[in-house]
Amino acid sequence: MAVPVHRRLRLGRFGRAGPLIQDDDQTNKKGSPTLVRLPYLYGLCPRCGSRTLFDGVVQFAPDCRICGMDFSKFNVGDGPAAFLTLIVGALVVGGAAWLQISFAPPFWVHAMLWVPISSVLVVYGLRIAKSALLYTEYARSAGEAGRKK
Ligand SMILES: [Zn+2]
Repeated sequence: MAVPVHRRLRLGRFGRAGPLIQDDDQTNKKGSPTLVRLPYLYGLCPRCGSRTLFDGVVQFAPDCRICGMDFSKFNVGDGPAAFLTLIVGALVVGGAAWLQISFAPPFWVHAMLWVPISSVLVVYGLRIAKSALLYTEYARSAGEAGRKK
């Protein structure tokens, strides 16, 4: 029996076909911007495209280890956290209500399911929201940031 084999099948980080990040290592050595469609999904430095934006789980690094860009001058603040709490809360409550009405599982199923889902949603949502804000700020002040004062 013949089985078709996709020799050049490459999956991206989230299972999509094709690499989202192109030649990450090569372009970074040269210091040119990496071609990424949605860079804030991956915590990449807005200037050089290295994966240096985050120091902790949701904590920005003080500066880029590769190009030395100062991340601390971007004051993203706690704005995203409040929005995110509302969004994640709505999603989780909606999901829990749907699950309860559709399948009426025992209580421990809810506890096992929604605690990790909320945590993951909050952490990744916060990372993405904070990076997106930093990117917006960087795009707006890119002219000034490039100049030495
Ligand atoms: Zn950098």
